[in-house]
Formats: sequence, C-alpha cells, structure tokens
Amino acid sequence: MPQTINMLPENLANKIAAGEVVQRPAAAVKELLENSIDAGARVLTLVIKNGGKSLIQLIDDGAGMSREDAVLAFQRHATSKISSFEDLENIRTLGFRGEALASIAAVSHVEMRTKRGEDEVGTRVRIEGGEMKESSREAVPAGTSITLRNLFYNTPGRRNFLKSDSTELKHVIDAVQRIALSHPALSLKFVSNDEVILDLRPSDLGGRVRAIFGEPFARKIFAFQDDGPSARLHGFLGLPAIGRKTRAEQYIFLNNRFIINRNLNHAVFKAYEHLLEKGSFPFFILCIDIDARRLDVNVHPSKLEVKFDDEGSMYRIVHSAVRRALSEHDLIPSAGFREEPAQVATANLRLKPEAGSPGGRVTNWRELIRTPAPRVRESGSSSTDNRGFSSEPEIDSRAQFPDAVSATLLWQVHDKYIMTPIEGGVMVVDQHAAHERVIYERVVKRFGEANAKVQQLLFPQTVELTPADAAMVGELLPLLERIGFSVKMFGKTTMIVDGVPVDVKPGAEKTILQDMLDLIKEDEQNTKLEAREKLAKSFSCRAAVKAGDPLTPPEMRSLLDQLFATKVPYVCPHGRPVMIKFSLAELDRKFGRTS
Ligand code: ADP
Ligand code: MG
Repeated sequence: MPQTINMLPENLANKIAAGEVVQRPAAAVKELLENSIDAGARVLTLVIKNGGKSLIQLIDDGAGMSREDAVLAFQRHATSKISSFEDLENIRTLGFRGEALASIAAVSHVEMRTKRGEDEVGTRVRIEGGEMKESSREAVPAGTSITLRNLFYNTPGRRNFLKSDSTELKHVIDAVQRIALSHPALSLKFVSNDEVILDLRPSDLGGRVRAIFGEPFARKIFAFQDDGPSARLHGFLGLPAIGRKTRAEQYIFLNNRFIINRNLNHAVFKAYEHLLEKGSFPFFILCIDIDARRLDVNVHPSKLEVKFDDEGSMYRIVHSAVRRALSEHDLIPSAGFREEPAQVATANLRLKPEAGSPGGRVTNWRELIRTPAPRVRESGSSSTDNRGFSSEPEIDSRAQFPDAVSATLLWQVHDKYIMTPIEGGVMVVDQHAAHERVIYERVVKRFGEANAKVQQLLFPQTVELTPADAAMVGELLPLLERIGFSVKMFGKTTMIVDGVPVDVKPGAEKTILQDMLDLIKEDEQNTKLEAREKLAKSFSCRAAVKAGDPLTPPEMRSLLDQLFATKVPYVCPHGRPVMIKFSLAELDRKFGRTS
C-alpha cells in the first residue's frame, strides 16, 4: 500500500463521480432532459439507439450557451443554477450540482452544438473521455443539441453491468415518462432505433396521462386536488380495480421533480388500506408543491431523494388527502369526513339503532346466509406505524352493525339495491356486488382448508362440454373439489356433477359450472390472475344473488352482516364499489339547505 496521498486527476475524479450520477443510459437521459428543461426548452427531441448504449441524442430549443459556457459546462462543479449557499437552500431548478455533464463526458464521446438566441453563430464542442478535443464556431439553430456515443466505453466494469438493449430501453422509457408527466406542457418526441415511442403534444396532466397510458386506462383513474396551507397536492388515483402487482406505477412529483420516497408511498398505500387485495399496490400520480425552503434535494447525486423539514407532517398531509379523495369517490366510508378529518370513526357505518324485531324467514339460497361468518372486531384506536409516524385512527373495515339492530330499516329498491340509513347519511348497497364479495372471500378461504362442504345432488346432472372446456375442467378439477364441487368426467367431454358447494342456489346446479367456464374464458387475457383467483371470481359471480332477486328483510340483514365481516367490504372482487354513501351534508346541499 503506497503511503503518500495523491490528489486524483480531475479526469479520474469525474469518472468516479460518473458511477453515482450516471449508472446507466436512463440516468444520462434524465440528466440531459433536466438540463433542457432548466434551460427553458419547450420542444424536445430525444433519439437513442440500443437502449442508449451506443447513442443518446437530445435536441432542445432552450436558452443555449455562450462559447465560454459551452466549454465550462463540462467542468466539474460548473453550474449556472446556484452560486451561493442561500441558493442551495431554495432550489427551483432540476439541476444544481454541476456534475452531470462532467460525469457524462468522462465516460463517453460527446458532441454538443449550442447557440443562444441573441448570438449570430453558435459553438460546437467535442469531448472524449473527459478531454476537450475540439471547440469551434458553427452556424447552428438556437438551442442545444447534445449527442453521447458509446457510453461507458472506457469503464468496462460499468459497461458489463448494463443489461440487454431492451431492458435498458425500458429504463429509458421510464425516465422519459417521468419527465413527460412532471412537465406536461413540454412537447416531447422520443425515438428509439428509428421507432417513434412517444410523440407528446403540450397538454395538461390529464391529457398527458391519457396520451401515455391510453384512454381505457385513464377511465380507471380519477383526478384529485387538495390544497392546504403548507402543501398543494393534485394528481390521479387509480381505482382499486387496477391494483398493481408491483410498486412500479407510483409517481411522486415534488415541485415537478420525480422523487422516490418510501414514506409518502406508504402514506398513499395506507390510505388505500382494505380497498386492495393483499399483495397489490395502487396506481397513483401524486404532485406535491411546497415551498422549496422546506426541503433538501441535495441528498444524493441522482437527486431522486429529498428530505422534508417535517417528514411526519408530510406523511399525514398526503395520507389524509388521498383518504379524502377516495371517500369522495365512495371508495371508503366518509359520512362527515370533510368536516372532521381527524375522526374518521368506525361509527360512520353503523346503522341507526331502531326499535323492532326481525320478521320473516331465511329461505333457500339464502342458505348463503345460513353460515354467517364469524364477527371480528378491530379496534379503531390511533396507532403508530413502524416508521414512527402516528397515523389517524383507522377506519374499521369490519364495521359492524350493533347486534340489537332490527331489520326494519332496510329497503330493497328495484330488487337490486339495499338502502339503509347510517349515522350521518344514507347507504346504498349493490346486493349482487355485496354477495359476490362475501362468497369470494369464503371461497378463497376454502382453498386453504381440507374438506369443503358438498351439497350432494339427488339427481346428478350431466353437462356436455367442448373439448377445450373439458381440458379446462381437467386442469381446474382439484380446485373445484376444494370449493365443494363433486365432478366426474364420463368419456372425454361429458361431465357428471353430483355435488355442488353449499352456496349454490337451487336450480343453478347445472349451469353454474358452464357459466363459470365462460367467465374464466372471458378473463383469459388476464394471464396475471392465478387459476384459483379466476375460479373464485367466477364462482362468486355465478353463485351470488342477482339484480332482480327479491330479498326479505332478514336476508338483507344477514347479507349486510356478512359483508361487514369480510376483509374488503367496500369493493367487489372485480374492483367495483359495493356501497355508496350519501352524507346528510351532501343531501342538504342538494336540497339547498344551508344549515
Ligand atoms: P447542473 O445542471 O447541475 O447545473 P450540468 O453538468 O448538468 O449541471 O450542466 C452544467 C451547466 O451547463 C448548467 O448549469 C447549464 O448552465 C449548462 N447546460 C447544460 N445543458 C444545457 C442545455 N441543454 N441548455 C442550456 N444550458 C445547458
Ligand atoms: Mg444538470
């Protein structure tokens, strides 16, 4: 080990810094795009080849640089964006560290052409591995065009670490999308290997979301806005139906900068609690605008992380804003939420206690109702999560009806909806969706149990299947038995059903399997779903009460009781709402009552 300390040559220092600033082509793309935006560009064209490994070119119509600056820009710590410590405390630009161009130039072949609007001629510079090879005057259009070739050509370790062209391209697309979403007013064209990937016109956030994710997807998200004294929030939230299997589609933009912040992600995730199946994550675009002095973006060279002066209060602001937005879309119970955000109480869902006693009999399918699930009560007390943030009292997803409540205040409307007064308002429940949820959870539970209850049929039914359907039944057989079907194949395409799960309504024994197969086939494109999930969904849909089935008050009562004993009572297995609430305040407003 040599004992003397050497100052590293600047070139080597830049190469080392490049390791942090540009880990892969996508990071170089992000830095270049940020520079163009900081330079006030309105129209950007990005061209890459081989996932950015062999070529990255960005052309902008921004402010451009003088001849001196064009050379200086590639020096480490050369920046036009801050000049004092006070500036660092109040950053309004995307860049400020002055090391992106130096780092990029240290590990690639760079050529830049730039001209300010006021200059007659522009400048062309060529840099290889951090060394200035050429700088000349040249007639170029106003703005800046920068071309990087052979990224990491002189850092084999880094180059070998790169993934396939298509993986690197995917990362570049992610980087471009983040910029496109955080700056919807930009016109942005992105070409990869001569193929136009994105061609975005100036728009607002909604238009940008539609252009990037497509119309059908855009119909499954909704806009929200929530302005508070210390932060302004807006963006889009995904309906629970589009719960994602990964966290990849969660965007947080802080003062128009894409950031990664686990605490805020968690704040949104918590707000969706009980709306999403286990293991799925909400889609969201959360734009936060706050005073730049309240945060520190200078945490990491990639500028993807920030520190807030008060992390805990940001967590609470985000969490309650998302909760409010979800409740306004009837996705979570909310009577009185606006008025008293601090006390979302379990009581909101309780029925108004009324005198009287249940009448009528529970009859047939209805046997659904014969095995009420055990009641579970969860406490609604305030808690501190594992990150040390104290969160608001939880909504009790298993909100219960008081045991003594009578069935007198339940109305079935058009044999389709159940209406009932709740504290502070009125609740409307979709009877089919509610029953689907109940059966779905029961079926999912049964998959994990040993012996399902089978309802033996007095007269076994035969069902003729197409060869494809027969093959499907063959695959599903073990699962079908788990949930209570007793099925045998007779020959290649004849199926004999001699037992069905207890929840199957009389008369539906013969058709239910065929109907389920049809539903599963419809769902076929949805390859992400496991067979058991498809089966549980199709079974619950087919076994559940339909719109048009009249219900007696005790049946309604029992259905609601069971619904509120499920884990996710607010959405059906397909992600549609099970219930909608109208608060008295809302009704008063509609009737023009001011009190
Ligand atoms: P930073 O963005 O942190 O200031 P960079 O190394 O990315 O550092 O860029 C150095 C400087 O080069 C910037 O401060 C800016 O003055 C100038 N610059 C870089 N890209 C452009 C561009 N596309 N248009 C105009 N000026 C640019
Ligand atoms: Mg920069």
